[in-house]
Amino acid sequence: VSEATPGEIDLGARRLALPAFLPDATRGVVRCLDAADLASTGIRALCVNAFHLSRAPGIDALERLGGIHDFAGIDLPVFSDSGGFQVLSLEAQRDWSVSVSGKGIRFSKKGEREDKLLSPEKSVQHQCRIGADAIVALDHCSHPAAPRAEHERSVAHTLEWARRAIVEYRRYRDQSGRAPRLFGVIQGGPFEDLRRRCAESLLELGYDAFGFGGWPIGDDGDLVPAVLEVAELVPRGAPLWGLGIGRPDSLATCVAAGYSIFDCTLPTRDARRGRAFRRGGARGFEYVYVDDEKHRRSTDPIDPECEGACCRGPTLGFLRHLRDVEEPLADRLLTIHNLRFYARFIDALRRTSAP
Ligand SMILES: [Zn+2]
Repeated sequence: VSEATPGEIDLGARRLALPAFLPDATRGVVRCLDAADLASTGIRALCVNAFHLSRAPGIDALERLGGIHDFAGIDLPVFSDSGGFQVLSLEAQRDWSVSVSGKGIRFSKKGEREDKLLSPEKSVQHQCRIGADAIVALDHCSHPAAPRAEHERSVAHTLEWARRAIVEYRRYRDQSGRAPRLFGVIQGGPFEDLRRRCAESLLELGYDAFGFGGWPIGDDGDLVPAVLEVAELVPRGAPLWGLGIGRPDSLATCVAAGYSIFDCTLPTRDARRGRAFRRGGARGFEYVYVDDEKHRRSTDPIDPECEGACCRGPTLGFLRHLRDVEEPLADRLLTIHNLRFYARFIDALRRTSAP
């Protein structure tokens, strides 16, 4: 039980009960699910990616189509990620060139003539014009194994961009009358003093909602120590978003420490790989590997506790068959199943963390 976890977050036009798990709808859709499927899972908010949406359908198009809620036909709170992390990850790909300076992140794709600058102002504009209920100031993410000097540079950029982002955000709010919630990201990698400086400076700039920046997970799949240390650096009760954190036992650990918002591709990606979540084991969950030979003749559901379209009717034997013949229905049913599991799991954490 933690008194640090707020019971809900005010997003301007919408409110969201916390803690909440947000599936990734990177391109504006939770893969394989329509709005009715999504509603049936009990999931209460989504996370889209501003960078991917700016490439398709484009920010202008999305704005003309009425924003993400009308476009996708969903009335749930939509969080957006700045896309800074994705732009930086393009660095590793041969057909992109990426560079970071105080101005922002400059990137271009080979074969495309245009050289684009993702500035903190443009990032705020894009996320606001998408119609997101919560947005993130552009941050500079460094690899956790990078030398200290690189983390110092990433904190300096993150703070400079955060200063400019909040100015742009206030301008947008005053002009439009819309007030999505703005999150600042705490960088600093494994260096406690850098993270502290980043958190304190964000507070001084006027930020009141925060996210953990950087790589939250070590090579072993467990949380890096910095994740829990960051929870000590923000005011008690402030919304704290564990960007990219998603293993169920990690959610439980983070909620106890004061985190209240999570987004991760894990449940939806696992679903498409034939891995279904179920309660059990020392970590509070176990996997059902649908492709296992032993399920071929199974007449059981994935999980007798689940009341979804995935488990009321379809047997494990049937789901295994669907995957065997590469029927897309398998992806839909397993995605519904895993999100139902996550919705129940986070709701159980909500009950135990309620003040
Ligand atoms: Zn199910």
